[in-house]
Amino acid sequence: MGWLLPRLLAALLAMLVGGVVGMLIGSFWHWPALGTLLGALAGGLLHTFVDAWRGRRLMHWLRGQQENPAPRDAGFWGEVGYRIERLVRLLERRVETEHTRLDQFLSAIEASPNGVMLLDANDQIEWCNSVAADHFGLDPQRDRRQRVTNLVRAPVFVAYLQDEEFDEAVSFPGPGSRGTISVLIRTYGEGMKLVLSQDITERERNDAMRRDFVANVSHEIRTPLTVLSGFIETMGNLPLTEVERRRVLELMSQQTLRMQTLVGDLLTLAQLEGSPRPAADRWVPVQRLFNQVHADAEALSAGRHAISFSGAEAVQIAGAEAELLSAIANLVNNAVRYTPSSGRVDVAWTMRGDGAGELEVRDSGIGIAREHLPRLTERFYRVDGSRSRDTGGTGLGLSIVKHVAQRHGGELEVRSEPGKGSSFKLIFPAARVRRGESAADAGRSAERVNAA
Ligand code: ADP
Repeated sequence: MGWLLPRLLAALLAMLVGGVVGMLIGSFWHWPALGTLLGALAGGLLHTFVDAWRGRRLMHWLRGQQENPAPRDAGFWGEVGYRIERLVRLLERRVETEHTRLDQFLSAIEASPNGVMLLDANDQIEWCNSVAADHFGLDPQRDRRQRVTNLVRAPVFVAYLQDEEFDEAVSFPGPGSRGTISVLIRTYGEGMKLVLSQDITERERNDAMRRDFVANVSHEIRTPLTVLSGFIETMGNLPLTEVERRRVLELMSQQTLRMQTLVGDLLTLAQLEGSPRPAADRWVPVQRLFNQVHADAEALSAGRHAISFSGAEAVQIAGAEAELLSAIANLVNNAVRYTPSSGRVDVAWTMRGDGAGELEVRDSGIGIAREHLPRLTERFYRVDGSRSRDTGGTGLGLSIVKHVAQRHGGELEVRSEPGKGSSFKLIFPAARVRRGESAADAGRSAERVNAA
């Protein structure tokens, strides 16, 4: 009742003041009693009017947006206005905090690498992040409140949603040229659904590659093993002449060598894939690499080809010597193996204008048809399988070359024309190539070491 007494007192005071003023004015006309009555009445009415006007002002403020402060009055309405305004501002602050929290929450989900979509009990889209929109081919704004099955019609997804058995994820082809999308649904609240999506195209491709790789390796190893076991059986069961026995042993050693080469290449690949990139401060003289590869190439060619190496004087590459040697040796080996007798193999180093270094292995061999070029560096990809195997190829050489190039910040460029020959270029970035006095010295000392 604390609010009533002051108001009554204020009304009484207004009436009192009105009565006194009325009495003074009434005395002037010799009607003091009537003047007092009318004055008190006028005072009471004025007070009621001012009170109603203040109440109306507050009501007007309340009906509006409450952007301005509440009317600042003394007394009852002033306090009501002040308290209501405080409450309004408190609620506004709370709503604002909730909004900020919701925005942060949605931004966090938006930043998720996975798709997130919220469906209501009627499978209408409540919200989805842009990754989910991309996975399902939706527009996050336009498609809100739309039934998801009207927009995503993949039968696997529709059946998954309708069967309501959400224990396991399902996968289906995404819209357009999207790959494969995996979807997992979780229910929450009253029939609401949280739809989580993930693009598993890359994972599926990797799985397929791994399966192919294992199948290829098994196949590559099984063939020489079958041959070997056949020979072992032959030697055990049949009496062979000395000439036959030597021939069989020779063939057996060929097959063993083939398996050894394959395992060697597989180990090299595994090492390239599993080790950190070679440091850029170990300088290897290119001439030293050329000298080693040259000797092996001459041995492989056995005088059937004209082989030349040029341009490596005083040049150095920063990287891992064993890897670089393996890459160049693979390219030169291929050039010799895929070039018929009396053909040419030219290996040359050139410095490019931008400081990059270019190592080209050019041959006048059988060449490669255009359609094979993009796949050459795939593991076990061969243009002519029997020629590759007959010449001791594993199908892993160019894969190794590409890895080595990438690990040294470089790239492999291939140009070829069937019947005319091929050119394989290893391009190293300027940061990993240098030419100078010190390089020349290193090259010369390397040659001295080789000569010795
Ligand atoms: P391989 O051990 O079979 O030679 P690579 O990975 O080194 O495997 O090469 C892949 C395929 O590319 C080879 O099987 C061959 O068909 C083709 N190829 C590579 N180098 C040459 C070349 N210099 N000339 C013609 N064909 C080549």
